[in-house]
Amino acid sequence: MKAKILIVEDNPLHMKLMEMTLRTQDYTLLKATDGEKALDMAMRERPDLILMDIRLPKMNGFEVTRKLREDPAFNHTPIIALTAHAMRGDREKVIESGCDTYLTKPIDTRELPGVIAEMLLKRRKTSPGSTGDCNGKESPYNR
Ligand code: MN
Repeated sequence: MKAKILIVEDNPLHMKLMEMTLRTQDYTLLKATDGEKALDMAMRERPDLILMDIRLPKMNGFEVTRKLREDPAFNHTPIIALTAHAMRGDREKVIESGCDTYLTKPIDTRELPGVIAEMLLKRRKTSPGSTGDCNGKESPYNR
């Protein structure tokens, strides 16, 4: 089965860039352009990984992530926050909200596929039911 990736992004150019970067990979891509749609789609489709823009209409990425983490089905879903600037304090907020790591935009198109592959692999090792918990742990992608 192809891994499902949900891309949450309200900026059409950033969305396009990520789509084009991931199109050549063997993933099913889902898209949402605001926080409410992101939450709905995540609940319905149960993606294997989520790329989560932080600044979004209706509900920001931190709120969406917090709500998803309240559902046990999303305990181990890798969530990668996307922030426009690496602002001081962002990293703390990202981890606090339940995101696993963050990437700054515009996304590094050479880096993105590797980050996603690594996070999906890590998720498989800490499958639901195991005692492993990747939340709050250091990731090599935090810098
Ligand atoms: Mn945005």
